[in-house]
Amino acid sequence: MINNKLISEHALKYGFGLVGFSPVTLLTKETSRLKEWLEEGNHAGMGYMERNLEKKENVKEILASAESVISLGMFYNSGEVHEKQNEEKQEFGKVSRYAWGTDYHFIMWERLEEMIDELKEIDSGFEAVFYVDTGPVMDKVWAVKSGLGWQGKNTNVINKDSGSFFFIANIINNKKFDYSIPLPDFCGTCSACIDACPTDALKPYHIDARKCISYLTIENKGEIPKEFKGKFENWIFGCDICQDVCPWNKKFSLITSELKFHSSGNKELEIEKILNMEKEEFKKRFEVSPIKRSKLLGLKRNAEYLKS
Ligand code: SF4
Ligand code: SF4
Repeated sequence: MINNKLISEHALKYGFGLVGFSPVTLLTKETSRLKEWLEEGNHAGMGYMERNLEKKENVKEILASAESVISLGMFYNSGEVHEKQNEEKQEFGKVSRYAWGTDYHFIMWERLEEMIDELKEIDSGFEAVFYVDTGPVMDKVWAVKSGLGWQGKNTNVINKDSGSFFFIANIINNKKFDYSIPLPDFCGTCSACIDACPTDALKPYHIDARKCISYLTIENKGEIPKEFKGKFENWIFGCDICQDVCPWNKKFSLITSELKFHSSGNKELEIEKILNMEKEEFKKRFEVSPIKRSKLLGLKRNAEYLKS
């Protein structure tokens, strides 16, 4: 029988360190907040965020028989740090921790498929649809509802015992469970993330992607605005500052046992090498890396921006 215990055991077996359960409800308040955020233009060029709002509000639009959402977290902090010393820093660009190893989508999609197949063998009536941050689902909202953590002032979901370096997956399904209790907000009076953001992209619980280095170096298809020159602190792909300074990560960040998230030589990228990189080399080197997302053109743009 599919119940909390069975799901938790399977989650652990497939490498998910966090698991929680929430009943299906309409996300009316959350969707209207998202709409406001979109209307203000905070999503910058990420037009896909405007789509499927009805599915985001009501997961029954995705799976008509949906009764609950199982939220899962997979840790990715390998415990390694950026290594380049001060004198080398200018020659290298830093890569966000999440992109040091294999693309988490490949790992999580495969595991989720296997896990759901196994659950269907146990109960052929189990219906499930899963998403790893790319679908029409408010992944952080469900993670919070399922008790994985609270959404901090830096907008990441933070777990009190293990920090925020984890990827989120949600399984919309047709089973009922004993539901998790959402955690309170433990940010308190802290403002470390807001104070440390070099481009002023953060206000409490609010991010402006137009100013965020992560957006500007990854999703952004255009030029990087001149106003941020000298503020990138050598980030060439993504940015971890608002997570690195968070006391919950400093004290409690859990180290992953998943070796595929360990660095595969992509913690720092040599700026000159990127500027001279050919398409074939890019394809080969970043074939299974999240860095592929920016495409060679985007990566070269970032390298140029840091250099000039
Ligand atoms: S990722 Fe970097 S630029 Fe973006 S909000 Fe966090 S600190 Fe600011
Ligand atoms: S740095 Fe402080 S304010 Fe920001 S998310 Fe962490 S605890 Fe919350």
